[in-house]
Amino acid sequence: MRIESISFQNYRNLAETTLFPCEGVNIIYGNNAQGKTNMIEAMWLFCGGHSFRTQSYRELIAFDKSFARLECVFIGQNRRQTASMTIESSKRQIKINGVKKKTSASLIEKFCAVVFSPENLSLIKRGPAERRSFIDSAICREKLRNAQTLQRYNRLLKQRNALLKHIAHSDTARGTLDLWDEQLTAIGAAIVRQRLDFIRMISEKAAVFHQGISHGKETLSLRYVSSFGAEENDSPERLKEKFLEKCAANYPNEILTGSTLSGAHRDDMEIWINGKNARFFASQGQQRSAVLSLKLAEASVLRERMGENPVILFDDVLSELDNERQDYLLNELRGCQVFITCCEKFNKEQLSEGKVFYVEGGVVDALSAF
Ligand code: ATP
Ligand code: MG
Repeated sequence: MRIESISFQNYRNLAETTLFPCEGVNIIYGNNAQGKTNMIEAMWLFCGGHSFRTQSYRELIAFDKSFARLECVFIGQNRRQTASMTIESSKRQIKINGVKKKTSASLIEKFCAVVFSPENLSLIKRGPAERRSFIDSAICREKLRNAQTLQRYNRLLKQRNALLKHIAHSDTARGTLDLWDEQLTAIGAAIVRQRLDFIRMISEKAAVFHQGISHGKETLSLRYVSSFGAEENDSPERLKEKFLEKCAANYPNEILTGSTLSGAHRDDMEIWINGKNARFFASQGQQRSAVLSLKLAEASVLRERMGENPVILFDDVLSELDNERQDYLLNELRGCQVFITCCEKFNKEQLSEGKVFYVEGGVVDALSAF
């Protein structure tokens, strides 16, 4: 998959223009606050209609304008296709190959990309919620139905927590808890099974990418940490049993706290580098390399599903990485179209093949291709 051209009109600070990136590595460089991330964000929007920076579509429209429009011509499923997006106040209109689409889900099926932005570093350093959300958004891309399953789980969880609080005051409601447990554990088991499958799929790939980025110096491994003892080879039925057993064991404490103390919502994924938990021991460069390896592994899973490489969008990825690690990202991701933004004046010698764009005040210039 690759972007052949992308046009911006009234999009954040970007001047009206059309870019023609190359098939390989595209470097977008410029000083701070010139529009580099805005460009990456615009490309990412074609992957499902959501920004990685905001939920408000209004923010995407240039300050003094009433609408923004993006158009992307891309090669996907071996043919040239067009997607356009018009954003007006809080509404969006999406067209794919000239046909209006009601939902952004239609974009996910057509255009495929993986994005890294510096906020993703929280995947390593912050709490389990960030890591769960990385896995959950990946399994939702794998199967759109998973998004509904997760929503149902969260709804049931809220209802069960409300019931626990109620039981603390009146034990008569105790009888209905079993019904909620039955549903919650069945759905929770299905989610955990999907997560375990996904982690199994990406661990090996992420380890290979991390070896590459660190030039063989570091070993990365991933481990699902379950709050109810889920193990890699457990069937959904076994997972449900374990979850139910844990609910029964936790019951007295759950009544005291009014919350469900184990389940898919309490699980985590540990990321280990050279036998140490990255959350506590990884350096800045190691954290960045680990997140990049996870993202590239995700891209590899997508390639298997879509039958073609997703577009790789790397915002501000090179800082904190030494030359060897930068070299891997610039020159070793063969067969993929890659966009990399950076602040420093880009040293062309570092890139064996690609195209360089310079951004200043929202104006993008294609400098050179080699
Ligand atoms: P850095 O290197 O610091 O990350 P950047 O080149 O990635 O900088 P962007 O995040 O792309 O910078 O933002 C560029 C500018 O776009 C910012 O100064 C911001 O104020 C401006 N901007 C953001 N939203 C809008 C908007 N809706 N209309 C006009 N300008 C906007
Ligand atoms: Mg930026």
